[in-house]
Amino acid sequence: MAFENLSDKLQNIFKNLRGKGRLSEADVKTALKEVKMALLEADVNFKVVKNFVNTVQERAVGQDVLNSLTPGQMVIKIVNEEMIRLLGEQTVELQLKPSNEITVLMMCGLQGAGKTTTVAKLAGKLKSKGRKPLLVACDIYRPAAIEQLQINGDKQGVSVFSMGDKHKPLNIAKAAMEHAVKNGYNVVMLDTAGRLHIDEAMMEELQEIKANINVHQTILVVDAMTGQDAVNVSELFNEKLSIDGVILTKLDGDTRGGAALSIRAVTGRPILYVGMGEKLSDLEQFYPDRMASRILG
Ligand code: GDP
Repeated sequence: MAFENLSDKLQNIFKNLRGKGRLSEADVKTALKEVKMALLEADVNFKVVKNFVNTVQERAVGQDVLNSLTPGQMVIKIVNEEMIRLLGEQTVELQLKPSNEITVLMMCGLQGAGKTTTVAKLAGKLKSKGRKPLLVACDIYRPAAIEQLQINGDKQGVSVFSMGDKHKPLNIAKAAMEHAVKNGYNVVMLDTAGRLHIDEAMMEELQEIKANINVHQTILVVDAMTGQDAVNVSELFNEKLSIDGVILTKLDGDTRGGAALSIRAVTGRPILYVGMGEKLSDLEQFYPDRMASRILG
């Protein structure tokens, strides 16, 4: 289970705090040092941890907390509030144009992040909201990506536009736009090509699509299991492509949680959805408060 280690550690720290009755400033500082260690071990970005702990400390060592009837409880409440803030505070919805216009969603990410799976998951969600999505196979490099998209599209009852692997992704995207206009699709979802690592060619390809197609939202798919790497990848994609949101996959695995806790703070971009399994129904809207409760127990 994701966050298991982090949750266990935080719960132990909190148990000690609650058990103490009165708290001194030193007690709070010791507890927050432990929180800091737990977050670092969970692979949360160092700067994020530092800011987080400093903010909690500033709020928690004041006299109104220390002299309150339940100081331990108060400190825990502050940690909870700050964690929700770290995760983005509010749920951010995927932005779509009105149904009578075409919304273009460009999905990007590294190979293996879960892009092809996630785009089909998301198409199913949009279809159930009454949209008419079109999945577009622009991942011409990964063997079997086109076929995988076709299979997933069929499962979701969503059409897939493909031109094989001999055309440039931009040309496929352009042809898909014409196809969408002619056939009344109102969400065009581009499954772009990833690479094993960030590389110039990939970024240029994505920038070229963005410069020539009226992309409404650029959504990055990242694998939560990769921890700090997921955060670095998000930062780089955001720098090059100005992403609008992130979908964090594989949160059902035993990720330590670092990516979930850092991405928003590092990139300033919201997490929109989380992938919770391999099945096409395993995509959930992201709720910062629920995620914080899951982590804090
Ligand atoms: P792409 O290369 O980015 O298109 O990645 P794929 O969509 O092919 O996904 C790579 C692997 O991750 C596949 O085996 C997917 O089934 C799996 N996967 C994708 N999303 C999730 C998720 O949320 N949870 C789990 N457990 N596996 C996932």
